[in-house]
Amino acid sequence: MVSHHSSESKHYEIEKGYEISLKELINKLDSDIEQGLSKIEVMRRRNLLGRNEIITPKPSVWRLYLAPLFDVLIVIYLIMTGIMLLLSFFVEGLRSKVSFWLVMIVFNMVLAIFQQFRAQKKIEALQKLSPPMAAVIREGKKREIEAIDLVPGDIVELALGDRIPADARIIESSNLTVNEASLTGESEPVEKLLDGSLAISSDAPIAKHENMVYLGTFIQTGSVKVVITHTGNNTILGKIASAMSEISIEIPLRKRVNALGKGLGILMVLFLLILLSFVAYERITSEEKFTFDQFAFDLSQAIINAMAVLPINIPLLTTVVLITGVLNMASKRIIIKELSVVETLGRCSVLCSDKTGTMTTSRMTVKLLYDTEYYYTVWVKDDYKNALAMVSEDQVEYMLKTQRGNLPEIKTIESESSIGLLLTTAILNNDASIVPLTEHDDNAEKEWEIIGNPTDGALLVLAMTHGLNVDDIRARYIRERTYPFDSQVKRMSGLFVDTEEKDYMVLTKGATEVILPRCTKIGNEANAKRLTKKKKYEIQERVNQFANEGYRVISLAYKPIDKEPNQQDKEDEREFIENKLTYIGFTIIYDPPRPGVSTAVSTLDSAGIFPIMITGDAPTTAGTIARQVGILDHDEIVVEGKMASDLEDSDFFKVSVFARVSPQDKEVIVSRYQNRGDVVAMTGDGVNDALAITKSDAGVAMGITGTEVAKEAADIIISDDSYVSLVDGVREGRNLYEKIRIMIFFYIAVNLAEALVYFSTSFLLDFQILNNWQRVYIFSIIHSIPVLAIIFGPDDSNIMTLKPRDNDALLPRKVVYGLILYSVILAISVLSVYFFIYNNENLFTKFNKGGIAGDIDLKPSNTDDPIEKLFPESLAHAKARTMLLTIIYLAEALVILSIRRINTDVITATREDCNLLVWSMVLFGPVLHFALMYITPFQKILANSGVGIELIRLSFFDLFIVLAASILPLLILEGYKWVNRKRNIQL
Ligand code: ADP
Ligand code: MG
Repeated sequence: MVSHHSSESKHYEIEKGYEISLKELINKLDSDIEQGLSKIEVMRRRNLLGRNEIITPKPSVWRLYLAPLFDVLIVIYLIMTGIMLLLSFFVEGLRSKVSFWLVMIVFNMVLAIFQQFRAQKKIEALQKLSPPMAAVIREGKKREIEAIDLVPGDIVELALGDRIPADARIIESSNLTVNEASLTGESEPVEKLLDGSLAISSDAPIAKHENMVYLGTFIQTGSVKVVITHTGNNTILGKIASAMSEISIEIPLRKRVNALGKGLGILMVLFLLILLSFVAYERITSEEKFTFDQFAFDLSQAIINAMAVLPINIPLLTTVVLITGVLNMASKRIIIKELSVVETLGRCSVLCSDKTGTMTTSRMTVKLLYDTEYYYTVWVKDDYKNALAMVSEDQVEYMLKTQRGNLPEIKTIESESSIGLLLTTAILNNDASIVPLTEHDDNAEKEWEIIGNPTDGALLVLAMTHGLNVDDIRARYIRERTYPFDSQVKRMSGLFVDTEEKDYMVLTKGATEVILPRCTKIGNEANAKRLTKKKKYEIQERVNQFANEGYRVISLAYKPIDKEPNQQDKEDEREFIENKLTYIGFTIIYDPPRPGVSTAVSTLDSAGIFPIMITGDAPTTAGTIARQVGILDHDEIVVEGKMASDLEDSDFFKVSVFARVSPQDKEVIVSRYQNRGDVVAMTGDGVNDALAITKSDAGVAMGITGTEVAKEAADIIISDDSYVSLVDGVREGRNLYEKIRIMIFFYIAVNLAEALVYFSTSFLLDFQILNNWQRVYIFSIIHSIPVLAIIFGPDDSNIMTLKPRDNDALLPRKVVYGLILYSVILAISVLSVYFFIYNNENLFTKFNKGGIAGDIDLKPSNTDDPIEKLFPESLAHAKARTMLLTIIYLAEALVILSIRRINTDVITATREDCNLLVWSMVLFGPVLHFALMYITPFQKILANSGVGIELIRLSFFDLFIVLAASILPLLILEGYKWVNRKRNIQL
């Protein structure tokens, strides 16, 4: 029993992964370096130890739910309600009003909490959509799994750019350096041991644990095979879990909106103060004696006026729009890690993107091989196996012209022949692997899948389908050291040992222009000749021809050496290894443009966004693809990345294709555009891209080819790597920004108009333009329903024909002018109609008398009772109030149709993209209003329950006036929009 128990809890016993020998460790972990764990064992350990995730303490309720509520506007509301509450002890009848405002505030707060909670959950879910992956060996087979499923004892292979998925002990490594900045703060990469079998003294500091790699750090160069020692909260990083940052949803846009709210709030308080001093002055100078009751009543009226026009909904609706946008994007396979970037992406004016895999399919296929003697085309046989067919020079010329080759005799391949050497080299010095898919994998069409670099994958697939046994070859030649690929050096090499012959060889492959200068000979071992200048020139010319046609060309070289090099310095060693090589040929790979990219590019053109293609490929290859997708016009040229810093501004800002780009060049490109004031989006996939990604305004990483480091640096992950998705993301971002702008426009416009109406009349002492219920009636329905048409209505189908917003203010000056124009005209029409009706008792007709008009209480003359003061002075006054409400209900609903598309005329906009939802949100208010006005029982019910909306029936003539007054401001706004369109000014 006891022994059984101790074996069960065995995996808890590893205190530190570095202080015992590897053998002892593997023993304790009960694992196997070659086979890994069994599925059952994995399951058992997961049950015992949990998943490989760091569970952080939840952020406190205060920070998560309560802090965001202390939004400026809501605070102003609370303070005002507080004052009202105090006043309610002095002013009769105020108590019911106070409770109403309290209900409104609590309602808003509950909604805010709910939204906050929903956002948190959704964002957590989104982050799970792009989980870190790891290549694990279990039951002798290598497969990609989510890093969260790793358990101690798992054998994992990691390469350049991978994030270390858990704490692990090195089994063997090659050229491994690890960036441990996140753990030790040391930004220089740390070199690790080639062979991790020896123990390290138990009191060594983390920086000296050369036989370990730790969660949260990443591989800068090289590759490594490890055994996992600790997962999740048991890792070093897990133990300092408090250092893990929580998800922030406090974002720049919301900050801007809040700043706006603060401005409005302060303005309102100022208004209030001016109003009060005015009222106080009137009271003091008038004959009547000054009473506190009077003052309290005045104050409460002023506060109600102010509260009725504060746009309390703005912050709340901003969050709703943002969250809806992020969810929409997720459904389009765009994962937003940082909420703020949705909006930034929508404002971008320069979109820099990788070529390979983003603009192209990354489904690379080898089309042609050259083994320094002959050319071979790849021929897909009937059984979908590939075969190589030898072709003559003439046929190659023909192929170059037509991209179709004749298929002559098939040559069988012997591994000693030149083409055999070429293929073998391609298989060995290769970072991809092929995994057979079992029935359990749902991808039924394919029998296998490629893991790793797509270029390497293409070479591997060719060799495999051609009948070479990849596993046998890889078993015979063991890779001793790796000199990894990196887009800066544009090549990769390996030092291999032939286990049968016991000799060493160096295999290298990369861009032709970097391989050729490192070669001194050409041909294979048996007949290697000196590589003449002339021959070099010929090869480079041929390669250029292919590059011109948009093919990616990879050259291969090798060198036999008699013993392992042992240079002290890594750089020197690489220099020695990759020199005096023998050139053995090239492979021509085709990577066609993705479907839809040309359309996406023309969309960007019309959106005024400058697309830039960035690639490590040769200028000619890049140029051809760029022309195919429409980024490059025929007379434009491709510029090499290293020129980016030297070009004059006038030239630099015209370049749309940068070739042979290194990661540093990317940074230069980003900052030059940023200095000009552009908002720059930049994609990347490599370790070295992280800086450029971080530097750009919207950093984008590729979901499939992206390294973990790039993904961590990015704010956005495009899960299908596609350029088309990226452009969709820009569209979504623009829509969202537009919706928020328009929503804010609406609130400020209507509140400003109403403020003008309320405040201008409040100066007439003792005159109540509306009763308090009528204010609530406006505030609670017409301020909150029609605006939903903007928020949930269809996206603007013309959004990608507008100019980029760059660093524009939320509401640019021209928009503010339009807003003020509309509000002032609306206020003037409302007031003119109101006082016209109020002053003409004889306009009160028999028809108006129907409904509940007879039941309305009128204000007794010379009353001191504050409640009675709110009653209409006459039936004409009551009708004037109804007219005012009707104008506001019509105008504020209809204005939505006009501002929905602020850069299009209302007719076109309504015809083009207006759906049932828009109509129902816009018409809801007016329909309800007319129902209340003409269906007397509804009114009676309201009146009996104490809700005094007091609507009078309006006649045709009255309605005509009302309609004219509500349409006039709209027409003027449309006119203002028209003038700006004519003058080419974007609102
Ligand atoms: P891209 O942006 O087009 O993906 P990279 O920076 O990845 O370009 O690659 C730069 C150059 O390095 C390529 O043009 C090619 O010649 C070479 N190259 C790319 N991938 C490999 C590879 N797996 N092995 C060897 N050379 C490669
Ligand atoms: Mg690449």
